[in-house]
Amino acid sequence: MKDLKHLFYFEGLLQDANNDLVRQAKNEGKLAIGYTCFHMPEVLLNLDKCFSVRLRAPNMGTMEVATYYMCNGSCEYSRALLERAMEGNYKFLDAIAGVDLCEAMNRCMENMELLHIEDPEKKNFFYTNTDVAYSDDEDSVKHTVEQLRRKVLNKLHENYQVDVSDDALRKAVKEHNEVCRIITEIGEYRKLPNPPITGYEFHVLTLVSYVCPKYLIVDKLRETLEEIKTRVPDPKPKHRIRVVVVGSEIDDPDMIKLMEENGALVVADRFCYGSFPGRQEIILNDNEDVLTQICRQYLQATECPRHCAPHRVKHRYDFVNKLVKDFNADGVIYEQMKFCTYWSYERTLASYVIQNEYNIPTLSIDRPYRAGTSGQLRTRIQAFVENVEIKKIKAKRESVNKEDK
Ligand code: SF4
Ligand code: SF4
Repeated sequence: MKDLKHLFYFEGLLQDANNDLVRQAKNEGKLAIGYTCFHMPEVLLNLDKCFSVRLRAPNMGTMEVATYYMCNGSCEYSRALLERAMEGNYKFLDAIAGVDLCEAMNRCMENMELLHIEDPEKKNFFYTNTDVAYSDDEDSVKHTVEQLRRKVLNKLHENYQVDVSDDALRKAVKEHNEVCRIITEIGEYRKLPNPPITGYEFHVLTLVSYVCPKYLIVDKLRETLEEIKTRVPDPKPKHRIRVVVVGSEIDDPDMIKLMEENGALVVADRFCYGSFPGRQEIILNDNEDVLTQICRQYLQATECPRHCAPHRVKHRYDFVNKLVKDFNADGVIYEQMKFCTYWSYERTLASYVIQNEYNIPTLSIDRPYRAGTSGQLRTRIQAFVENVEIKKIKAKRESVNKEDK
């Protein structure tokens, strides 16, 4: 396929948290708010003069100093962020909006705060850590609304005079929805038998939409959508099977590239930093407080294993099954960041359930933060691709034999 016009530019933006567009927005007087998890509603960090930056640690090498402060049993994502923070990479931020969700990220944020990784010149800088509920009932919604109003909106207003009115929230939702519509429309092309976009390219587009100010990236995303509409795929597809990837956060597109180089085309991304969930529109009515509506939709949309009520667990299995059907996938790859507590039990159980109760071929892997060059993963993915391919050939042969009889 012909290269996407802006792909090289987008890839460049992913090389540094403080990328060109972040610097441009800062020069225009905007406030950069860092966050790490889907449960911090991104849209609240894009109010008025703020823009959200979902934190990554691109090209991370060793994490020795962060490991000293945390421990080598903490997930590598949290350690990578702390290492980068200590290197001074997040000094451009004006606030960090954390969520009290997992022990590893709590320790990471706590260490950032104790070590004062922020720019000392930023007198109004603040850290905040929000407790997000474990389920999606109305009590959970109320609790989340209270937390986010007190710990995020009020702080933004008090420290930086950010407009946190309902009108400002509605405007932020409108801009958020525009990006979601574009990413979703691009994603729909992945349902085609020979899609005009690879999983790697899609992940790059999705990632830039998380780490760049939306108002500076939306035009190029729109242009890319137009390009994809008429992009001609290679006549003979390179992939051997189609997969849905499910699991903990993947902010390194090389991980997706590794899967695709070994024959597994990634057609749907059900992981943190992917588009399911995260790139669905927020639908507002005129009858209810806007923040309540936003919180309810986030709590209902989450696919995080932290939500452990039985109906949420079942919902997650059914959702993976639905993605497999909708995107015509042949199998599922469950992946988990090494030492991620939530995903370690979700992956173990869900990969069994999806394989044995939903009859969908499933591979279950754990992986380091940067996995793009892992020889072990390569071998496991190759073996999975071969296995699924053989099953497909057998199934095809059996159906031909049946027709002949
Ligand atoms: S797995 Fe859950 S807690 Fe972890 S980043 Fe994703 S949404 Fe947040
Ligand atoms: S990967 Fe798991 S352990 Fe690490 S920050 Fe995310 S939820 Fe927490």
